[in-house]
Amino acid sequence: MKWGNGNGLRCPRCGAKATYIVEASGHNGRREVTHIIRCTYCGYREIVQHLIVKREPKAVTIYRLR
Ligand SMILES: [Zn+2]
Repeated sequence: MKWGNGNGLRCPRCGAKATYIVEASGHNGRREVTHIIRCTYCGYREIVQHLIVKREPKAVTIYRLR
């Protein structure tokens, strides 16, 4: 995957400036974190990373789904 550098993120479909979003949700010590590239111009959306973070009394476990 090509990222360019810093804020120069581009939509792979139309080449417009894309936005990098991090969405987090969860409860009961389980958190899902999704990193998404989103283009407001053409509506392109791609999940670049999807993590599940589990908090236990003595450890934090991270599952990387993508
Ligand atoms: Zn686009």
